[in-house]
Amino acid sequence: MDGKRSAARVLDDVTRGVAELLAAGGRRPHLAVILVGDNPASETYVGGKRRDGVRVGITSSDHRLPDSASTQEVMQLVQRLNRDPNVSGILVQQPFPKQVEVTSVVEGVDPEKDVDGFHPINLGRLALGEPGLVACTAAGVMRMLDDAGIPLAGARAVVLGRSNIVGKPAALLLLARNATVTICHSRTRDLPGVCREADVLVVAVGRPGFVTKDFIKPGAAVVDVGVNRVDGRIRGDVDEAVAEVAGHLSPVPGGVGRMTRAMLMWNTLEAERRRQA
Ligand code: NAP
Repeated sequence: MDGKRSAARVLDDVTRGVAELLAAGGRRPHLAVILVGDNPASETYVGGKRRDGVRVGITSSDHRLPDSASTQEVMQLVQRLNRDPNVSGILVQQPFPKQVEVTSVVEGVDPEKDVDGFHPINLGRLALGEPGLVACTAAGVMRMLDDAGIPLAGARAVVLGRSNIVGKPAALLLLARNATVTICHSRTRDLPGVCREADVLVVAVGRPGFVTKDFIKPGAAVVDVGVNRVDGRIRGDVDEAVAEVAGHLSPVPGGVGRMTRAMLMWNTLEAERRRQA
């Protein structure tokens, strides 16, 4: 699986979508990014998102608050952006300084501008099979599987990790595509045995090289969501030797990370389309 190629396709689709929106007399989508404190990794991510925006014709603005900002100050900014008719989507760039209550901030974003797809209303819509904004990483996993031609209906899918931002939405999306889904976590018994049943294995544990060859059914499609910094290198959650057994494997870097960024652009376009519908 090639995240770079799939992400480029998504960005091309967004470019076309923006042009169609403008041709129909609509507004150009605009992404507002909230950054609190100085975090070098966040700066890098936001820089990448800005470049993607320029490529697809989506404008963006950064809204910075100091390291000392309170939850109330962040909420005031969120409310101002919720009301701003020029803002299509709001990205809340995490991590936050520890005094800021992340949940309150995420739940304060207007669900129609929640391009992260983290708001309970959007996660609820996903669970109910209703249209909404879907968490970017999980949506990116699905697009990459589709681009690789992996059949999902009737497939056994195992999602390793149950976070609200990756594992749960990925499991719900696979279920919506008629896969038979198992979700694993730190209390799962015989983890390698359960994973070996998977035709499609999505791994989001946050432990470098955690999934080894003995977790894999020969020929399975394995999506590595993990991003772990080890000795200055980025490593996934899946050991490199898994490539010897899997039928398809997403690389790290150059896999899901690219897709997450591209799906943010997709969601920003989608938020603006929904506003104008
Ligand atoms: P998280 O919130 O820490 O969740 C990790 C999940 O893994 C939890 O459900 C945990 O189980 C499970 N887990 C941890 N150790 C385990 C073990 N030994 N055996 C079985 N399950 C175990 O992490 P996350 O936010 O989902 O992120 C996961 C990884 O994806 C990280 O490396 C993160 O950096 C990466 N990520 C990448 C992108 C991207 O764009 N590529 C986006 C988001 C995240 P419990 O629930 O039982 O604790």
